Amino acid sequence: MNTTEKPKTTIVIFGATGDLAKRKLFPSIYNLYKSGKLSEEFAVVGAARRPWSNDVFRENVADSIKEAAKEEISIDLDEFCKHFYYLPFDVTNAESYQELNTLLTNLEEEFHIPGNRIFYMAMAPNFFGTIASNLKAEGVTNTNGWNRLVIEKPFGHNFSSAEKLNQELREAFAEDEIYRIDHYLGKEMVQNIEVIRFANAIFERLWNNRFISNIQVTSSETLGVEDRGGYYDSSGALRDMVQNHMLQMVALLAMEPPIRLKPDDIRNEKIKVLRALRPVSLEQVDEYFVRGQYGPGIANNSEVIGYREEKNVDPDSNTETFVSGKLMIDNFRWAGVPFYIRTGKRMKQKSTKIVVQFKELPMNLYEDKQKDSKMHPNLLVIHIQPDEGITLFLNGKKLGLSGETTPVQLEYCNNCGIDALNTPEAYERLIYDCMLGDATNFTHWDEVALSWKLVDTISTAWENNKAADYPNYESGSMGPKASDELLAKDGFHWWPITDIEFGV
Ligand code: NAD
Repeated sequence: MNTTEKPKTTIVIFGATGDLAKRKLFPSIYNLYKSGKLSEEFAVVGAARRPWSNDVFRENVADSIKEAAKEEISIDLDEFCKHFYYLPFDVTNAESYQELNTLLTNLEEEFHIPGNRIFYMAMAPNFFGTIASNLKAEGVTNTNGWNRLVIEKPFGHNFSSAEKLNQELREAFAEDEIYRIDHYLGKEMVQNIEVIRFANAIFERLWNNRFISNIQVTSSETLGVEDRGGYYDSSGALRDMVQNHMLQMVALLAMEPPIRLKPDDIRNEKIKVLRALRPVSLEQVDEYFVRGQYGPGIANNSEVIGYREEKNVDPDSNTETFVSGKLMIDNFRWAGVPFYIRTGKRMKQKSTKIVVQFKELPMNLYEDKQKDSKMHPNLLVIHIQPDEGITLFLNGKKLGLSGETTPVQLEYCNNCGIDALNTPEAYERLIYDCMLGDATNFTHWDEVALSWKLVDTISTAWENNKAADYPNYESGSMGPKASDELLAKDGFHWWPITDIEFGV
């Protein structure tokens, strides 16, 4: 982030009465303002169906900021909220767009904003195409400044729907005006992957198939589907998590060093990784991927129901709430190194973590002295959330006379100090990047397309062949047995997601 620039822009939020706007967008805009990153001259227009007035909208914005605030509100909130305007909006009606254009033109005059407009799509994805084409058709994008379109996930349901959506968007906006959100890319420690790799000689030199045996990426949740049963049942973990967040983390871990830290250079390297992913045929899907659906069990210390009993979920649902898989990247750097991914709901613990397992030394000099004659492999653990930090597992001498080795942890915690309170949230970072025109942490269409192509094969195989064993993992566990077997076949095992369990 260039912390000195204060972009002057209006932000139009389509779906401003919804959950995303309330929980993430308003608090993020407030934090940017509070930390001095936003020009005094900005305006936000909320557009949604409800017949709200500016005052009702401003009350809602203020409430959402108070609810999300980590510390006391230190600015004049009423003054801040005066920058927020509301427009009752019908996305299919041309008149709505005319009214929007008039309002924006007036606000730009009032706040001296040079026609820069961000259009943030925070409503159901089936409206994205309609809104984009109307914005262009009704001349809302016809300004003296720049236009940027921010698109929330899901970007399509499969490759062909994503391609159709992309074509609709591209008729109104150029690729470099489209900012596809993957909020994982806004997370502090996901952005840190690049720094850990490219700013440390001790890692980058070992970052290849000569020294790394496998890489594991886990993103687990303890929550079930909550009140999103209807949406989730037609999506599932593969589309909700693997197509975007999991593959993006793999691409960042596996990419070659970019020529420069510029958006196109970084995104090109990520695209090359996705291109090098070994294609999996329909027949091979079960060899490389495992699906699961949670049954009843104990999560967060209370008894919970199984997925099929959840509200708005088909009682015979074939939807997966868990996916694990083995990705092979067939290039010089990674040939032979499996990247294992795992994500699911109602798992034992909420955690997003990356474990890089290094290969063993060619010879263990301490073999005779070890009880199990094995040495702990060196591991680099990148904690993404809720903890943020790095742990490096080395081997040291066990205290005393036995001469045994013992694993030692070197730990760096990113969110333990007082600075943690001031760490920007993912959405805050991404909104600011979009204002600055920095698309590094947004996904390019080519990344979306390549990810869908892999995911489509898996979902087709699973749709054609219904799971006979659902539910196949208990709530509060780490997923189905087959997920452990996936690694066992290769002589590996999942590293635990809590450090305590590492037994050190
Ligand atoms: P929501 O249902 O809470 O809000 C939808 C908003 O769209 C409301 O403001 C509603 O008034 C408006 N709307 C719906 N139909 C409309 C119409 N015909 N004309 C005008 N306005 C209309 O949804 P949400 O949870 O805020 O999600 C919005 C988008 O963000 C979705 O694409 C979702 O997939 C994505 N998303 C949400 C979250 C989250 O945490 N909520 C996270 C990631 C992605």
